[in-house]
Order: sequence, then C-alpha cells, then structure tokens
Amino acid sequence: MEKIYVNEDRCIGCHLCEYYCAFAHSGKTDMVKAFAAGQKPSPRLVIEEQDNISFAVSCRHCTDPLCVKSCLTGAMEINEEGKVFVDETRCVGCNTCILVCPYGAILPGDGKVVKKCDLCTSFGKPICAEKCPNLAIVYEERGEV
Ligand code: SF4
Ligand code: SF4
Repeated sequence: MEKIYVNEDRCIGCHLCEYYCAFAHSGKTDMVKAFAAGQKPSPRLVIEEQDNISFAVSCRHCTDPLCVKSCLTGAMEINEEGKVFVDETRCVGCNTCILVCPYGAILPGDGKVVKKCDLCTSFGKPICAEKCPNLAIVYEERGEV
C-alpha cells in the first residue's frame, strides 16, 4: 500500500506540514478561523529539529505494529489495507501505544484519546505530503516496512 515517507535532506523546517495537518483535522474550512485566538488545533505529525537537521515524524503504518499488539482495549487497529488507526471511542488514554511505538509517532491528545496519523483517509490523500513545498514528505508505494 502507499505510505508516507520522509526525505529529511529536503526538509527546511518550515512546519507547513504541521499547520496543514492541524487545519485539516480542525473541522474548520478557513485556516485563519482554525487558528483564531484561543484555538490551537493539534497536528498528527511533528517536525523534529536539531543541529540544522529537520524531519517529519509520523506513523509508518508498520506491517506488524507494536502499538496494535500492546493496546489494552483494542482501540489501536490495523485494517485490511494495512492502515493503522485508533478507534477514539475505545481509547482510554493509558498511553501504552505512545511508549511502545519505536518511531515516537503517537501523540497525546487534548483529552484522554491519543492522536496519530490517519493518512487523511477522509480527505482522499495525506495533506502533509500534498502541501510540503519541497517533497520532504511523499506518499507512495515502496513495499514493506
Ligand atoms: S512542509 Fe516539508 S519542508 Fe516544511 S517542515 Fe514540513 S516536511 Fe519540512
Ligand atoms: S504508531 Fe508506531 S508502532 Fe504503530 S504502526 Fe505507526 S509507527 Fe508503527
């Protein structure tokens, strides 16, 4: 299946991917309104930066995901396409998945539910890959991870 891949040598640390991800999941149709005073929608990926190197950290949709294996309530699931997603109605916020993910790809949520990349399933394709101006995030088929 197609997955998100990161080209760290092309990332300039502009954080546009974070903003567009947060906007896409904010439920708003206007970015200014989404980030209006008092509101801070959360992205589902983060840019890590150190010593002039930056790159996006997001879910790799592992073929044998530790997060799914360790989830206490079965909230973390892998579907028939191989996409890993969290059923927010079943997550109790124990953060076990955050601890076991080797990529640091799962984020604490605003409430008790964790947040992770959903590949923008409801929008058709990942907005981070679409909006990155430098091809530092791409969405393509490369085989197993
Ligand atoms: S939009 Fe692209 S270049 Fe900018 S921070 Fe994100 S990955 Fe890096
Ligand atoms: S959240 Fe982490 S462990 Fe789970 S599928 Fe994604 S990268 Fe793998």
